[in-house]
Amino acid sequence: MSEIVLRNVCKEYEKGNFAVKDFSLDIHDQEFIIFVGPSGCGKSTTLRMIAGLEDISDGELWIDDQLCNYFDPKDRGLSMVFQNYALYPNMTVYGNLAFALKVRKASKSEIDEKVHKVARILEIEHLLDRKPAALSGGQKQRVAIGSAIIRRPKAFLMDEPLSNLDAKLRAQMRIELAKLHKELETTIIYVTHDQTEAMTLGTRIVVMKDGVVQQVETPIELYNHPVNLFVAGFIGSPSMNFFQAHVTEENGRMVVFIGNPKDGKKIYLEGRRSELARLRAMDQDVTLGIRPEDIHEYADAAELGIEKATVGMNVTVTAREMLGAEVFLYFDEQKKTHAVRLHPKNQTMTGEKIDLYFDPKKIHLFDQNTEESIF
Ligand code: ATP
Repeated sequence: MSEIVLRNVCKEYEKGNFAVKDFSLDIHDQEFIIFVGPSGCGKSTTLRMIAGLEDISDGELWIDDQLCNYFDPKDRGLSMVFQNYALYPNMTVYGNLAFALKVRKASKSEIDEKVHKVARILEIEHLLDRKPAALSGGQKQRVAIGSAIIRRPKAFLMDEPLSNLDAKLRAQMRIELAKLHKELETTIIYVTHDQTEAMTLGTRIVVMKDGVVQQVETPIELYNHPVNLFVAGFIGSPSMNFFQAHVTEENGRMVVFIGNPKDGKKIYLEGRRSELARLRAMDQDVTLGIRPEDIHEYADAAELGIEKATVGMNVTVTAREMLGAEVFLYFDEQKKTHAVRLHPKNQTMTGEKIDLYFDPKKIHLFDQNTEESIF
């Protein structure tokens, strides 16, 4: 069992300059918590404060009901895995795995049993006699993870552990990590830049910006219900498309005009969305957000009997990316490039025009001043 609780944790490297501000989070036993955010937002600093590698300037860190702010790193019962593997170059893989147990003065037979067990789990048994220099990046990373596992920590702290691997190996190791998390029934706190890692591994994702937590949610909730413009733009690749828009009423129905109302680019809202727009954004300028997969070819909407005048826009394709299972079309509007994800059967080429349908059930609106989500 391990519960890690942060209460208003702050880090000031320099007086008045917060690298992390009022970070509060309850991490439950066996969670896979992911910290994401742009470079410099305070992810690693937060992880290092939990590990004890960085002092906590203010706030409280509790591990299993013990206040740990001033505990030595080795007394916190946590294991850290770094992106640069941190292996002992002069020791074999066996020696690296055995090291922590030797320090604890475990018996030879216990060490042998545990090293083989961990090596079996990570499929590195055939490498036990090699030195790190004779291993591939992925193999080194398995050994690093193995030497963290063998200590049986209360929780693992991982700082971009896969970022030095090539794309294919990273995808493989991602699956290994997910399996490992299940097998070990342990808590993992994990820092990454990688959207796919965050979305696929995390039981919850913490999105940070400028040292401040923006939202803590399950991956799917975060994707579908971002609380503000920043989270909406950060999660998802390609990013959500944003347009300047205006909410008003037309012929008794709530409508969002994209850009100048005279351009005729508009989306009628229905049901709950219509009510929320009426209550929270009537006659206001807003930012409209829509993900690339929620924009469709109008032809598909026509099949559903949806009128062309109520759903979207006619645009010129400025670029086309065919990825096999999907095709991305790009168009410029309001001096920005926007992406649409379509079925690869779509044959619209660069320079050609296409009628697009914005799924009214999938659009997001954001307040232009606070940047918070209206819905
Ligand atoms: P990245 O994704 O680039 O690794 P990060 O989100 O992990 O970034 P941190 O490394 O936690 O960000 O850094 C947070 C802020 O604290 C940054 O502005 C950074 O410049 C600053 N910082 C980090 N370490 C120190 C230090 N030792 N002294 C002063 N400032 C520091």
